[in-house]
Amino acid sequence: MFNKVCIDEVELKGKRVLIRVDFNVPVKEGQVADDTRIRESLPTIRYAREQRARMILCSHLGRPKGKPSPAFSLRPVAEHLSQLLEAPVRTAEDCIGEEVHAAVKTLQPGEVLLLENLRFHPEEEKNAEEFARALAGLCDVYVNDAFGAAHRAHASTAGITRFVSVAACGFLLRKEIEHLGKLLTAPEHPFVAIMGGAKVSDKIGVLKNLIGKVDTFLLGGGMAYTFLKAVGGSVGKSLVEEDKMELARETMKAARAAKVAFLPAADHVVAERIEPNAPTRVVDGPEIPEGWMALDIGPKTREAFAVIIRGARTILWNGPMGVFETPPFHEGTWAVAAAVAASGGTSIIGGGDTAAAVVQAGVSDKMSHISTGGGASLEFLEGKELPGIAALTDKQ
Ligand code: ADP
Ligand code: MG
Repeated sequence: MFNKVCIDEVELKGKRVLIRVDFNVPVKEGQVADDTRIRESLPTIRYAREQRARMILCSHLGRPKGKPSPAFSLRPVAEHLSQLLEAPVRTAEDCIGEEVHAAVKTLQPGEVLLLENLRFHPEEEKNAEEFARALAGLCDVYVNDAFGAAHRAHASTAGITRFVSVAACGFLLRKEIEHLGKLLTAPEHPFVAIMGGAKVSDKIGVLKNLIGKVDTFLLGGGMAYTFLKAVGGSVGKSLVEEDKMELARETMKAARAAKVAFLPAADHVVAERIEPNAPTRVVDGPEIPEGWMALDIGPKTREAFAVIIRGARTILWNGPMGVFETPPFHEGTWAVAAAVAASGGTSIIGGGDTAAAVVQAGVSDKMSHISTGGGASLEFLEGKELPGIAALTDKQ
């Protein structure tokens, strides 16, 4: 059970409320290129405004390697947020220090200040005590709504909670945990997990943790070829992690023992190179010719997966079915996206590239939940405790 104090259980009026948000969004030429994460933070920010809190927002953006760097400034985000909120958003040159304190002092109830990138300080990722204390010193109430950073024990997500009287979760963080948590504790059956993407090593922890919880695994994407090779298939020059073949065999064995159906892609769209509109062939069975690589699931697999997806009450999708960035290798992913959209079951998208693929396929509004945190949702689904959540104040 989710047993953390939430923002709506704390008195905010007139208080200095520091909200850790996840504004780690792509910025291109000074403009926010995808504002999903900003929009997902709005319920918490709007609520705190209505409550007349004096709001201090903080986030990281990209990997500035512990020093100030204009390319990683949150200023474009402040402008974008201001448009979405239809209210001014003040900015600061830094996230701690005298100037920030002065800016916080002049904040009126309902006003918003966005601090500069937390990762301009190496102490953020080191979870350094002094830095965490300095952040805590800015506020009366701390709120964490940055699900995408909750798997990191950083100063703004973990350390800070030791120096504030209350550390509450925001609405986005609560929503994420409710949707993802239900997959692990009370999914409706049949529960189908669609796993794909590039690497076995990224997803194996989730696969393992879901054995015994899901009814069926559907396996596509690059990771499928390590599994197919591990059972003796020929995979040509498809993506394979040689050092994960034993793990793949063990996982399949464990799935069999738990009577979980484990269905890797049965036919494949292959090409000699990853290139838009490269000549392709469809190969039935794990017999991919030398020099060719599997870049998408084939038509038979799409149909077979769609039948299973249609019958599901709960669907978790984590990892695209092919190299969806390069046409025509998006087709399998789009077919699966359409099947998930039409299923009528609860559909949870793990975030990352799968979230992007669902948006590209034009079905994002048909999904029950699209996670804003790729890495965080993976770790959560692996059954790990997320430090940013563990550190929040427990309900009495
Ligand atoms: P997510 O971010 O949703 O967890 P991943 O990052 O694991 O997904 O995987 C996405 C990447 O996997 C994409 O860049 C895609 O091109 C790649 N990919 C998918 N299928 C294949 C394949 N058959 N061969 C090589 N790469 C693939
Ligand atoms: Mg990814």
